[in-house]
Amino acid sequence: MKIGIVGAGAAGLAALRHALQQNYSECVVFEQTDTIGGTWNYTDLTGIDKYGLPIRSSMYQGLITNLPKELMEYEDFPYEEIDRSFIGFEEVLKYMHSFANNFNLYPHIRFGRQVMQIKPLSNDKWSLKEVNLETKIITEHIFDAIMICIGNYSVPKLPDITGMDSVREISIHSHYYRKPDAYKGKRVLVIGAGPSGTDIAKHVGKIAEKVYISYGNNIFFRTPEYVTHKPLVKEFQKNKVLFVDDSDLEVDNIIYCTGYQYCYPFLSDDCGITVENNWVKYLYKHVVNIEHPTMAFIGITFKVCPFPTFDIQVRFFLEFLKNSNKLTKDDMLMDIFKDVQTKKVPEHLVHKIGVSLHESYFSDLADTLKIRKVRPVIHKLYEYLCENRNLEKRFKILNDEEFVELS
Ligand code: FAD
Repeated sequence: MKIGIVGAGAAGLAALRHALQQNYSECVVFEQTDTIGGTWNYTDLTGIDKYGLPIRSSMYQGLITNLPKELMEYEDFPYEEIDRSFIGFEEVLKYMHSFANNFNLYPHIRFGRQVMQIKPLSNDKWSLKEVNLETKIITEHIFDAIMICIGNYSVPKLPDITGMDSVREISIHSHYYRKPDAYKGKRVLVIGAGPSGTDIAKHVGKIAEKVYISYGNNIFFRTPEYVTHKPLVKEFQKNKVLFVDDSDLEVDNIIYCTGYQYCYPFLSDDCGITVENNWVKYLYKHVVNIEHPTMAFIGITFKVCPFPTFDIQVRFFLEFLKNSNKLTKDDMLMDIFKDVQTKKVPEHLVHKIGVSLHESYFSDLADTLKIRKVRPVIHKLYEYLCENRNLEKRFKILNDEEFVELS
């Protein structure tokens, strides 16, 4: 069986590793940049790359991981000794290169190749067209199965707030944020208090005159004292911001940390995939395309530990390929609606797992196809962290069940 994989970020590398280990030797990864690692490659550039393609990485200077490295490991491949748990993006990238070397992944990756079109064929195979970005030569490949591993943090999602046009020139989305320098001495409003919003407010606040963070109910990290909290924005008027509590502010800059959207421009309509309200329809267990079950999406889920997720979702899909005839499209659709009904969440949160469902989602994947489970210690540490998020902490995983916090 020939498997085509799109993207050589963390998900694509996991896909390749497991596929090769399960003797799918004819695997090819297409990667549009010249290197592996996706998100973890920092660049000063914010517009287009040397091939004229939009830069996909949203990495910024000074980023420290928001999960400890113990939760950012691939299965059976720990980080080399680092005396901290929360590490810099360069260290994650180095780890990914040593992973790729260790499993001899590079020979299977075609760099500088952008996947332009994926289309199902009548014989249950897939046509994948890619362009060599140097030579501009387009090549069609035929695959038995496809894994889409293009990441979810590249296409910005902006809120819909009255008067946004009037502040366009002083606003950016966090996708384009690289370093705090431009905010020296400025009054900056960060909108959104997820991982990026809280972290960027912290970085910018160190040199800004004043930094504010606006959000609804939840905040990801506790922020330093110099970050002033504000409620949701009601309206923008030129340089003035009105909030829902009727307070207002004058600001010099606005950074939208309002998340990203799923986007698959290369999928032909007959792949049967649509994205509505940020729900990718329809994926069995958030992985398998129910219209064409030889296509998988790896890493769609959010509020999870991404690296362990990639491992198990890939193993699930590879097992599913062996079992696919046992489930009908209706079976899979019923499973999806049951999941959505149980979760009782709006459409844009369907792919959210979160701490309360972390263990059950992973166990469900394992139990459904009788594949190896994710080590319980991963869920335990994740649960602990969600309650005690503090980048100074250090952890050590002792065995499959236990971890300790080091002093
Ligand atoms: P990506 O890393 O985006 O890789 C996708 C790859 O696909 C890219 O190399 C891209 O060039 C390629 N590609 C896209 N389209 C095409 C195409 N058409 N043809 C060919 N190639 C294509 N996770 C953590 O676990 N801990 C953290 O602390 C953490 N911090 C984060 C901080 C930021 C700012 C961001 C944005 C994300 C963070 N994440 C973190 C989540 C992170 O995105 C995941 O951990 C993981 O790296 C995502 O990997 P991926 O392979 O799914 O996507």
